[in-house]
Amino acid sequence: MAPYDYIVIVGCGRLGALLANRLSGLGRSIVVVDRDEAAFGNLSSEFSGFQVAGDAAQLAVLRRAGIERADCLLATTRHDNVNLMVAQVARTVFQVPQVIARVFDPSRQAVYNEFGIETICPTQLSAGIFLEALQAAPQEGAP
Ligand code: AMP
Repeated sequence: MAPYDYIVIVGCGRLGALLANRLSGLGRSIVVVDRDEAAFGNLSSEFSGFQVAGDAAQLAVLRRAGIERADCLLATTRHDNVNLMVAQVARTVFQVPQVIARVFDPSRQAVYNEFGIETICPTQLSAGIFLEALQAAPQEGAP
């Protein structure tokens, strides 16, 4: 894994919290941002990073998360629009070197990529796994 030291994770839902817990366990400095403080309850008791409550679409909230010294930002909310906006701001305003965003709509990936934002598309990944499972399934009537 690339040696990112200071990682801002936007969204502390199932995905964001899982990433935060794992990366914190690997010794990375993690700041998790969520507008719903209750979401921080998803973090494990071993999580040793920081929590920032607020709307990540606001520059002041990202600054509170220390985005100016972040070398990586992961946008993991379930909202494509929020992830795109936050990822774009991280790249263009704060020049965060590595920005990865979750995007459900496969047709929007190209837009993200044009802005230098890497994307993870759960929809496409799931489709691939479904198709693999179909191929692996025994054919009806096969010996
Ligand atoms: P999930 O429920 O796994 O999809 O996680 C989504 C998380 O992202 C939730 O905890 C939301 O509160 C959080 N979230 C959504 N929009 C924002 C936002 N603009 N700023 C910060 N956190 C957000």
